[in-house]
Amino acid sequence: MKRVYMDNSATTPVKQEVLDTMLPYFTEHYGNASSIHSFGQEAKKTLEASRKIIADTLNTSSDTIYFTGGGSEADNWALKGVMKANAQKGKHLITSTIEHHGILHTCKALEKEGYEVTYLEVDSDGLIDLKELEQAIRPDTVMISIMYINNEIGTMQPIKEIGQIARKHKVIFHTDAVQAYGNVGIDVEALQVDLLSISAHKIYGPKGIGALYIRKGIRIQNLIEGGAQERRRRAGTENIPGIVGFAKAAELAHDNLEAHVAKLIEMRDRLAKGILEAIDYSKYNGHPTQRHPGNVNICFEFIEGEALLLSLNAKGISGSSGSACTSGSLDPSHVLMAIGLPHEIAHGSLRLSVGDFNTIEEVDYVIESLVEIVHKLRMMSPLYDKVKGGK
Ligand SMILES: *Cc1c(COP(=O)(O)O)cnc(C)c1O
Repeated sequence: MKRVYMDNSATTPVKQEVLDTMLPYFTEHYGNASSIHSFGQEAKKTLEASRKIIADTLNTSSDTIYFTGGGSEADNWALKGVMKANAQKGKHLITSTIEHHGILHTCKALEKEGYEVTYLEVDSDGLIDLKELEQAIRPDTVMISIMYINNEIGTMQPIKEIGQIARKHKVIFHTDAVQAYGNVGIDVEALQVDLLSISAHKIYGPKGIGALYIRKGIRIQNLIEGGAQERRRRAGTENIPGIVGFAKAAELAHDNLEAHVAKLIEMRDRLAKGILEAIDYSKYNGHPTQRHPGNVNICFEFIEGEALLLSLNAKGISGSSGSACTSGSLDPSHVLMAIGLPHEIAHGSLRLSVGDFNTIEEVDYVIESLVEIVHKLRMMSPLYDKVKGGK
């Protein structure tokens, strides 16, 4: 059976070049970067060369890059580390209602410890309001954390403007850039970002490795205590194969950014247009233009997201849905609720995220299959029957 992977926002396959770069670091160059001997020194050299590559992609210096066990750890560290290290200024933090759970659940944990969080609402396109943001800043506000690109609906926030507001009010600014990295050019200086989270497995690198950019001078507590790795800020023997793979993936993404984005946009727009034109009672979610180059998120009325995913899977197509069963909760996705979708519509959501390995042929196959599936599922829906019958 044909298999089409369109869940690149969940994770991406590791590129062959990335894997080839990693393999010798498991079997030949397996030294611990903290060791004195040649194996260790070799590992140390590789570690620092990789750090430089990542730093260059963000227009910063190596000494601002700290490797972590992925995007979630970077998010946890940024929030817990900064809030705790700056408690003398205050205990207030500003974020949005549509953040990744790596941020939202960390905020909940901080609230239990006595910190106070303001959750900014978003408009129907998923954008925060900059005036509301500025008004939410108080004398005891320590930091703002707003994601660069939303993982569900693809909306891109005005990060540069947020950076300006944060700087003006002397508030620390963190952004979860896991979905943005490798899909937009990021310059931490131009954006005036103080901390930024990235992850390898969303850019054709390995899972379990990421990084946190920390601007020089930012006060932050450690999250992981132990050895003196990462300049005493993040303990644990360095994941050299992962780090090497991350750097290779970052380098490839950076060198091919324009072509990658152009290719994704072409597929994304063809996919969205094809679906929306062929299927009535469907709604495109997220910002129409300021969005992830590969993200398509559409709600189909009178349909359950899980049924849709299973039918697609039966045709070899992998997508995702922000609806109940898949997320392990009864409520539809917090993001779809935040952009104001009614429950019954949010339940019929589908996210298709295209990546470097997808083709136009696959896009057309997905459109064709989806038209068939939605039609079939709706034929079984008494509600749809009623609506159509009434017209
Ligand atoms: C995937 C993702 C994360 C988590 O990254 P991991 O490396 O899987 O821990 C955090 N934020 C966003 C926006 C993501 O898409």
